Amino acid sequence: MIRRVKQTGAVIMVISVFILIIGGCSIEQNNPGIPVPAVIPSPTDKEAAINRYTIDAVLDAENKVLTAEQQVMYMNNEDVELSELYFHIYTNAFRKQETAPFLFDDFSRAYSRGFKPGYTEIASIELSKGRSRSTPEYSLQGVGDTILRIKLPEPLVPGDSISIQFKYKVIIPPAGDRFGYGDVNINMGNWYPIAAVYDDEGWNLDKYYSVGDPFYSDVSDYIVNIKAPEEYIIAASGYLLEERAEGGYKNWKFHGSNMRDFAFVAGNNFLIAEDKVGDTVIKSYYYKGHEKRGKEALDFGKRAIEIFNSTYGKYPYPTYSVVETEFPSGMEYPGLVYISTMYYDNAYSADHLIYTTIHETAHQWWYGVVGNDQIDEAWLDEGFATYSEGIFTEKEYGRGNGEFYYEILEENAKKDIEAGAYDGVILKPLSRYENWNDYGPAVYTGGAVLLNEIRKQVGDKAFFEILQTYYDEYSFKIATTEDFLTVCEKVSGKEFDDLFHKHLSSVK
Ligand SMILES: [Zn+2]
Repeated sequence: MIRRVKQTGAVIMVISVFILIIGGCSIEQNNPGIPVPAVIPSPTDKEAAINRYTIDAVLDAENKVLTAEQQVMYMNNEDVELSELYFHIYTNAFRKQETAPFLFDDFSRAYSRGFKPGYTEIASIELSKGRSRSTPEYSLQGVGDTILRIKLPEPLVPGDSISIQFKYKVIIPPAGDRFGYGDVNINMGNWYPIAAVYDDEGWNLDKYYSVGDPFYSDVSDYIVNIKAPEEYIIAASGYLLEERAEGGYKNWKFHGSNMRDFAFVAGNNFLIAEDKVGDTVIKSYYYKGHEKRGKEALDFGKRAIEIFNSTYGKYPYPTYSVVETEFPSGMEYPGLVYISTMYYDNAYSADHLIYTTIHETAHQWWYGVVGNDQIDEAWLDEGFATYSEGIFTEKEYGRGNGEFYYEILEENAKKDIEAGAYDGVILKPLSRYENWNDYGPAVYTGGAVLLNEIRKQVGDKAFFEILQTYYDEYSFKIATTEDFLTVCEKVSGKEFDDLFHKHLSSVK
């Protein structure tokens, strides 16, 4: 996620340089076509041990209702027996105005068409294990009924798995948000029952906070079939295995391996531009009439993938999609990012589109591949994604421009602290932030400044080695601040306790 409120001289300057030097290499097409099938690796032991989601969904675009059957093969990867399972039903937060998590406290923008509820109606849940089938007791709990508790007939022992079959209907609200529809888009972020994470603290059953990206999930494998009216194009997290017409509808079949979530956007006004980085297909989905910005989104998505591939380690998925949609800023999902349609307007400064695309692309590494608890330790993805904007700047436009970017970050951080924008504590859960005005300066700016401090102390070589080692060691896992600290110390041979404490936990 990013919220862009400040303009910087550096951004404008580097972008004007960019516009002069860019060379086009995109392909515009009206239909996405069926890509050459990528080699889908057969499951290794590690992959076989993660949860598997198979979802068959039918999108009624006219009535804004999605009907789905979903099977989850849930693996108990913990070292304790589980007598119940928990899933997030994030859609239920959109049922009432009081719990609807519209962004940036801007209700009238999110619901410009007026408020209507969004939610999920669960028709049935069944369990199967070996040959036995059962109908479990289940209940909704938590603020806005966003947590589903399923009682297991008998405890699931470590290393064992159980299959859960859901049937449900999703009522999509008229919201320009992660979940909701606009004039030409249906945004399906956080739309299906997704398993809660069981970690050292037990089950993580947080509500859908209106601040931050309040999501926390383990990587899983996905097969998602979406049947939608033929005039809709589906942009999705996974790799498109098949696109098949059937009586006024199209069936879209996607595969996602080792992904932390699965989002899609259905649009009836999309054009697609496409390019490649190695064997990764980069796609830009943009509205008709927005060709110029649509291609810029493709070019910057591509450059960002190239730069972060060489700086952090390789992007692991076969596709990456940058999607124009009705949304207030940018939002990251694995393999797919939302970018606000406002930024595609030629009257709008290009830097919003470009730097939002870079930021959200960086989240593919920090949040997507290396996961973190975004409720308790949001700086681990937002601070890293913000700092990545600087890394992009220096790699693309030269060290001087990069230095300028970091100086502005530091100045902003200083001003934020002086102005009392937040209490000086970055490492705290979302529940302890007031709103976006204290959350932003803390986790984005404050988090990025800590990374810059580490770099100053260890030098470039060790700093990039730290980031590469961290990416390598925690790919497809959940990392904590402690884990990152350990990597910093191991790679550099220096102690960082005091620096981390000073930046993350000290009260001014
Ligand atoms: Zn972000």
